[in-house]
Amino acid sequence: MADTPNTSSEAGELYLDAAATEPVSPAVIEAMTPFLTEAYANPASVHQPGKTAARALDAARASFAAALGARPDDVIFTSGGTESDNLAIKGIAMARMRKLGLRPVYGLDETDDKQLASSRPRIIISAIEHPAVAQSAAWLHEWFGFEVVRIPVDAQAHLDLDALERELDGEAGERTTMVSTMLANNEVGTVEPVEELVRIAHAHGVPIHVDAVQAAGQIPIRMRDWDVDALSVSGHKFGTPKGLGALLVRGRTPIEPVLSGGGQERGLRSGTQNVAGAVALAIGLNESNARMQAQYRELVASRDMLIDAVRRVVPRADLTGDPVRRLPGHASFVFPGVTGEALLVDLDARGIAASSGSACAIGRHEIPATLLAMGLEPSVAKSALRMTFRRPLAREQIERVSLALEESYAGLTRH
Ligand code: PLP
Repeated sequence: MADTPNTSSEAGELYLDAAATEPVSPAVIEAMTPFLTEAYANPASVHQPGKTAARALDAARASFAAALGARPDDVIFTSGGTESDNLAIKGIAMARMRKLGLRPVYGLDETDDKQLASSRPRIIISAIEHPAVAQSAAWLHEWFGFEVVRIPVDAQAHLDLDALERELDGEAGERTTMVSTMLANNEVGTVEPVEELVRIAHAHGVPIHVDAVQAAGQIPIRMRDWDVDALSVSGHKFGTPKGLGALLVRGRTPIEPVLSGGGQERGLRSGTQNVAGAVALAIGLNESNARMQAQYRELVASRDMLIDAVRRVVPRADLTGDPVRRLPGHASFVFPGVTGEALLVDLDARGIAASSGSACAIGRHEIPATLLAMGLEPSVAKSALRMTFRRPLAREQIERVSLALEESYAGLTRH
């Protein structure tokens, strides 16, 4: 648990990896505990304890939905961002494939049948999606012969809206089952123009899923106002235990479940519901939203001070992503001449926990895929460093980071 903002319990370690995960908030632990101890019943049970659990689940669902500008019926509780993305991509694409009268194509990679190739179902994603989306689309290709179209991005990771329009036009557009894009990028923090993306997809009658895992609790989300069809969030990015999340999906959106079973969560996510987890999601998100409202400007100001300080001490450092339309507590750079990995290890030894950008490459130091899609050379993309925080950084913390970076960079480039 955080002792003071942005520090972990390990002697003064400065924790700048909030995009990877956050500590569980004390208010969340307090709110969820009764549902792990005395009010533990299964919310599907008809007895009184079951009804108590069901009421708590309903209340959590309503409060959580409201915090995302959605309705209670939109919410499907899941085990996190990865599951939500899988359910959205596989569930919507397969339901729409059937609705559009398209057939799966098996073994397409082994044939050069052009007619087959031009009749298969399609899915459009962006070139900078998290593996939870990109690999789900790859699975559709592998097992059902989907054509996976990736919309390119510019040098600041903005999606190419004209390319999206083009891909949705004409015969190929009619075979398109869905569009999936992220709201805010995990590696470089750029925020995409969600309302424009929705407008373009809907103009072609295609539903759109938005991965809002990095955005929830950091920037306002108005699912219904934006007219988004499906939206993924993950609790551990806003103060709940890991392994909790939700897919919000409108009743009008065709979708098939990925898990079969007892039919909980509108039949879209079978399995006994995690009442304490739902309570944690509602409390964690509301708490993060309240903090966002109270501290947004201060957080942005401290982020910009950090960016300026880093550029001052390492003039070769380049900010990655959009300098303005980016998440409030997200500062990401490339440091030409060193590897991000060496920098991370060196900073860690100096008590600063940062990241190279993608936490999900377990035990492997991969080149951040977003940076490659933005057109950076692999040798430069390899030098990425991301610093993310949910609370404003104090002046001394910024000085500490810039001093450490100056020394690390000088040390690593000396040889
Ligand atoms: N989508 C994005 C954009 C993410 O950043 C992450 C995790 O970092 C995920 C999905 C996966 O979420 P989870 O860790 O809850 O499975």
